[in-house]
Amino acid sequence: MRIAFIGLGNMGAPMARNLIKAGHQLNLFDLNQAVLSELAQLGGQVSASPKDAAAGSELVITMLPAAAHVRSVYLGDDGVLAGVRPGTPTVDCSTIDPQTAREVSKAAAAKGVDMGDAPVSGGTGGAAAGTLTFMVGASAELFATLKPVLEQMGRNIVHCGEVGTGQIAKICNNLLLGISMIGVSEAMALGNALGIDTQVLAGIINSSTGRCWSSDTYNPWPGIIETAPASRGYTGGFGAELMLKDLGLATEAARQAHQPVIMGALAQQLYQAMSLRGDGGKDFSAIVEGYRKKD
Ligand code: NAD
Repeated sequence: MRIAFIGLGNMGAPMARNLIKAGHQLNLFDLNQAVLSELAQLGGQVSASPKDAAAGSELVITMLPAAAHVRSVYLGDDGVLAGVRPGTPTVDCSTIDPQTAREVSKAAAAKGVDMGDAPVSGGTGGAAAGTLTFMVGASAELFATLKPVLEQMGRNIVHCGEVGTGQIAKICNNLLLGISMIGVSEAMALGNALGIDTQVLAGIINSSTGRCWSSDTYNPWPGIIETAPASRGYTGGFGAELMLKDLGLATEAARQAHQPVIMGALAQQLYQAMSLRGDGGKDFSAIVEGYRKKD
């Protein structure tokens, strides 16, 4: 299949590589020439603009930083909607607000294009391994078309409902993740300060009612989980800046829905303070450092 893939960053590049490996022909576009050259060597075709990439494609996939980029890549003069053939399935995998996802999809529908949202979880490791979870907001017909292709980049492809619901699922999950990481940090630091061995404490939590992903897979205390970013200086995971972005999406969506997100708003402020200290590039589990004396 000829697929336009636009946005080839930390996530998009490994996803595109998996599609090339699966035998698809890719029309590639990004602002970063280095990644375009690298993927061209694997057999991808470099395009001059999103419009150019979309023209002649049978499917369009985008993986961009934020809502403003999605708007410009789809709606700009040189954008996807200026070049795509009516009837071409289209999916945006960026994490953005549900409102923008719906608005851009509506603009696509006006051109005869069925566009869905499919944000992912699983991080850069999942993107490279082809084990991402896709949370898909799309019509039933579009979901059926997208599923086999998304399966070449991911393991769990979940139909959440109509357009925008993929983004809703993603921001609700990350709202909870941001909060739970702070809860685990607080408990581990308190236990340490009160004098219990942190390995023993983690073992108790992970076989008791406090257990969660932030404690048993991604524990923020160094040395508890060998494969967690905490055990390698909080590098190579999910950056606090990205968590801050997702909490911003959740609190803004909550504001629009007149829904309280009290813990989420507090969590957002804690990651904001972490970012201000210059630690936004660290893995988000480094939030625990705010609870510890410096060694
Ligand atoms: P990234 O910043 O590494 O990559 C974004 C890419 O988009 C860059 O290569 C950039 O050059 C390109 N780009 C920006 N504006 C463009 C434009 N106008 N036209 C074409 N290309 C443009 O970001 P990422 O880490 O790959 O994340 C992408 C999305 O996935 C984000 O919405 C993020 O929140 C989400 N996400 C990231 C992770 C993660 O662990 N990195 C996990 C899940 C979801």
